[in-house]
Amino acid sequence: MNDMTKVADYVFVPEPTPTIPVAGSDKLFPVRRIYCVGRNFAEHAIEMGHDPDKEPPFFFQKNPDSIVPPGKDVPYPTETSDLHHEIELVVALKSGGTDIAPEDALDHVYGYGVGLDMTRRDLQGQAKKMGRPWETGKSFEASAPCSAIHPVSEVGHPAQGAIRVSVNGELRQEGDLNQMIWKVPEMIAYLSRLFELRPGDVIFAGTPAGVGKVERGDVMTGHVEGVDEITFRIV
Ligand code: MN
Repeated sequence: MNDMTKVADYVFVPEPTPTIPVAGSDKLFPVRRIYCVGRNFAEHAIEMGHDPDKEPPFFFQKNPDSIVPPGKDVPYPTETSDLHHEIELVVALKSGGTDIAPEDALDHVYGYGVGLDMTRRDLQGQAKKMGRPWETGKSFEASAPCSAIHPVSEVGHPAQGAIRVSVNGELRQEGDLNQMIWKVPEMIAYLSRLFELRPGDVIFAGTPAGVGKVERGDVMTGHVEGVDEITFRIV
């Protein structure tokens, strides 16, 4: 809703803007779009059957209302029997634009978080096989659990450090942010040539090797060194 519109101008009350809490504050980060980068860690590209030297990373989107804020449970989604975790660094933008130069890109970052790109791997696999879009595999309800956003003033711009996720205490995925094929500034620059980036856009920056299945009752504990730790239960 902009300044010129009132609830009465709509034919029904609009849904609220999806938000993520800001760490150390009672403010909320309003989410406009969610971009995700695919195959941004070589070992994960290999485990998914691709050659990271031949195929550059690429982007897809999730819906802003797929965010699950910290403290909430993740409902097991419909129409899948192969729900996977993908632990990722989350980059939250305070400003945007088009044709952003890599050297200016970090000026647009408000902060960072830790997220899970939850994936209906069976539906994604069918889509890949049939040359169809990935939405059903990636963009479903509650598919983007996320920590609070930590402002750059608190965490800087993390470019190295452990990224991992355990399920019920058992380590599943582990990597280092320094293994990302596309670094955050390159990612922002590239995205800004394809789309006009705006304040509130967030980027899920890709996952290391070790993706795997979760079931109802499982507890996922994700960690990005120097950013945050998250715990989400599948219900
Ligand atoms: Mn992912």
